[in-house]
Amino acid sequence: MNAAISLENVYKTYNNRSVVKDLSFTIEKGEIFGLLGPNGAGKSTTIRMLTTLTKPSQGQIEISGYDVLRDSMLVKQSIGVVLQSLSVDGDLSVWENMEFQGRLHHIPNPKRQRLINQWLEYVELGSRRNDLVKTLSGGMKRRLQIARALLHQPQILFLDEPTVGLDPQTRRRLWEIIQGLNQQGMTILLTTHYMDEVEYLCGAFGVRTAGDNRKPGRIGIMDSGKLITLGTLQELRSESGEGLLVKQVGEHWEYLFFPTLREASNYLNQQEDKTGMMVRPSNLEDIFVELTGRQLD
Ligand code: ADP
Repeated sequence: MNAAISLENVYKTYNNRSVVKDLSFTIEKGEIFGLLGPNGAGKSTTIRMLTTLTKPSQGQIEISGYDVLRDSMLVKQSIGVVLQSLSVDGDLSVWENMEFQGRLHHIPNPKRQRLINQWLEYVELGSRRNDLVKTLSGGMKRRLQIARALLHQPQILFLDEPTVGLDPQTRRRLWEIIQGLNQQGMTILLTTHYMDEVEYLCGAFGVRTAGDNRKPGRIGIMDSGKLITLGTLQELRSESGEGLLVKQVGEHWEYLFFPTLREASNYLNQQEDKTGMMVRPSNLEDIFVELTGRQLD
């Protein structure tokens, strides 16, 4: 089987209420996959089930071909996890955080030191190895979390809102790090609230280096526990409509999708009164709002 991650009819129920409902999809090896959804959609619960932190109530989940319930140890060995809740220890140094993780995974020396050095260099923290983590910036802490998650050489990396609360330059640097990992073959699943993040990492808009023949990643949108759409950015745009007519009506805006930009323009040209109307290509945020009926918060 070639899938890195596979879910089949997965449910999670709390107090008789299903917060994840009948979720089925697969992520291929080497793919970068963005999971989007409004707050409460079930993204974190899904990530927690995929990373063995909580058990599915029903259905089957396989990671690298291992069942999350039967083979949870093997699943844990094949994944790296960066969650908001699994933060680094501020009272330890950068190196001590890495050393602790390396020992947890029983990585013997000198390999452990080699991997610690390798990953600290990769996330540009080599020069901060002896500093206490509480003296690092938010972006550095996040990079340390990523280095720590990669220490045991997993094939799949889970990132739950990796750039939340970071400034634009720091976010861009993290995107490059995440993209670099994917270019090296790492399968990545990330959740985020930021549309530009998904467009950059999973869309066709990301910077592509020469000779980089990767396929664009895919995007899944969840709402009320269900996966409501799944595809590449281009597929989602084709499905919803690539052309958008934006029209101001009183205090608010109306959005009208057309299959192509030309059709949206034709429609606009036919209007006698074009006041408050404009045409532009649709983007992921337009599609998200159209499908979930809500703004991100
Ligand atoms: P998201 O990450 O998309 O914001 P979550 O997976 O955190 O969504 O939450 C989905 C729903 O599940 C929410 O309504 C939340 O209140 C509920 N939920 C999450 N964890 C628990 C829990 N441990 N007990 C009860 N309800 C929970």
